[in-house]
Amino acid sequence: MKNWKFLKGYMSFLEADKDNKFHEEEFTISELEQNIVSEQILQTYEGVMNHQFDGCNEPDCRWCTFVRSNGNSNLESIEYDED
Ligand SMILES: [Zn+2]
Repeated sequence: MKNWKFLKGYMSFLEADKDNKFHEEEFTISELEQNIVSEQILQTYEGVMNHQFDGCNEPDCRWCTFVRSNGNSNLESIEYDED
């Protein structure tokens, strides 16, 4: 498998501007931005594996309500099928 490296990307706008033109913007990423996102991926993965769920804590959010009413500790008892 080829070891791909993301260096630049394009963003295509789905809606035309006032002159009826569709824009495409090129963007490149710096090494710093790459490190920030890599760190976020690692932290998120760790959080998922540790069943950490901070949520948004909006009173009517169904996900936060689910975690509040079931408790994070109940997630510990879920058994995973490893294959
Ligand atoms: Zn929420």
